[in-house]
Amino acid sequence: MPVARKPRYVDVANPSLSVECPRCGLLTARFIDQCRNCGYKLWPSSEMASAAFKAWRDADPSRKDASRFDLDVPEEPADVTIDYAARAHELGIHLFPNSNYPFIICVGALFLALGAIPFSGTIRVVLAVIGGLIFLYGIVGWVLVEDVRMFPAETPSTHEAPR
Ligand SMILES: [Zn+2]
Repeated sequence: MPVARKPRYVDVANPSLSVECPRCGLLTARFIDQCRNCGYKLWPSSEMASAAFKAWRDADPSRKDASRFDLDVPEEPADVTIDYAARAHELGIHLFPNSNYPFIICVGALFLALGAIPFSGTIRVVLAVIGGLIFLYGIVGWVLVEDVRMFPAETPSTHEAPR
C-alpha cells in the first residue's frame, strides 16, 4: 500500500504544537511520528507527520517559525536593543563620539608624513604646515568640539569620593 503523503486528518485550527500521548499520557511533540516518552506511534510515518506539520504551519502565518520538534510555538523575540551611549553615560565610561574627524586627522598625518621625506627644505616646511593645520583642525574638532558637545559638563561626581 502506498504511503499517503497528504495529511488527511490534521486539525489545523488547533494551535498546539504538543499533544498528550494516548498511551503514556505525557506531553510530546504533535508532529513527530513517535511519542518521545514511550515511542508510541502517533503517525503512520515520519513523512506523514511532516506533511501534517507543513499543512498545520501554512494554515497560519504566525506559525512560520515553528519547528515540529518543539512543544511550543516560539514567542515573538523580545526587543533587546541596548542604548550603549546611555549605558556608558550611566556607568561613567567615556565613549568617543561617532565622528568623521578621525579621517581628517589621518589626512593631516599623511601630509605630516610626506613632510618627513627629504625633499628640499621649502617643500617640507609647506607640507608640514599644511599637515599640521589639518591635523590640529581634526584634533580640535573631535576632542574639543564634538566631545564637549556630547559630554556638556564632565560630571563632577566622578571626582568625588566613592560612596
Ligand atoms: Zn507516550
